[in-house]
Amino acid sequence: MKNKKISIRSYPTDINSSFLRGCSKAPPKIMEAFNSESTNKFSENGLNLDDKKVWTYYDSSTIPPGERGFHLIRNSIKNDLDKNYQCISLGGDHSITYPIIDAYHSYFKNLNILHFDAHPDLYDNFDNNPFSHASPFARILENKLSRQLIQIGIRTMNKEQQQQVDRFKVQVIDMLNFDPNIKLQFNGPVYISIDLDGLDPAFAPGVSHPEPGGLSTRDILQIISNVEADVVGADIVEYNPKKDLNNITAITAAKLLKELMGKMLN
Ligand code: MN
Ligand code: MN
Repeated sequence: MKNKKISIRSYPTDINSSFLRGCSKAPPKIMEAFNSESTNKFSENGLNLDDKKVWTYYDSSTIPPGERGFHLIRNSIKNDLDKNYQCISLGGDHSITYPIIDAYHSYFKNLNILHFDAHPDLYDNFDNNPFSHASPFARILENKLSRQLIQIGIRTMNKEQQQQVDRFKVQVIDMLNFDPNIKLQFNGPVYISIDLDGLDPAFAPGVSHPEPGGLSTRDILQIISNVEADVVGADIVEYNPKKDLNNITAITAAKLLKELMGKMLN
């Protein structure tokens, strides 16, 4: 883990959620599970994340609505990248990924995105909100902020979003054709965006849009472990504590956080 360090950023906003509020309450719950003495801080690849020199948590209070909020997110990520941090962001809803990637693009021109989700989030415009959590990847791709987008776990494709897939040449690995042993090829650095509803509701019930027939926690861990490229940033979004059962989704998000850190610091 030489010279690598991670900033964990909280972006507690659900103002761009289309159906339910609640994921603005997610970040402290995920960190509570991450720091719980019910487990240790070793990632599966053997790194000791108890070493406080390798990560810092920044707890943001509230994110203002509209462009001001996106500006705040973009600037905080840029600040961290300036200081040689790699950022893992805790949502909040999936709308935060657009300003995060906007900031990443100024540092990584050849950025690839690996995106786990039940939904493609490619709507050109959803409920008259172009910054909806149903649209971040449309904004990212039309602004050419990512060279390649690979989506895994998709099981809600419709005609409108399929047109966007074709338009932006998105690589979609839907659940119908999913193979957990897939090895993904990337040419350049990778950013990983995890919408927790990509998991099956059996593994992550605490989401606003549960969609049965999804990924297991191990599926996601296996795919991340198999990525042969530099993972330079990540987000974990859409945890809705109001819908959780026995904190299992917070614990799962904390596990994903730990393994993303292990992958990024390795
Ligand atoms: Mn989703
Ligand atoms: Mn999403």
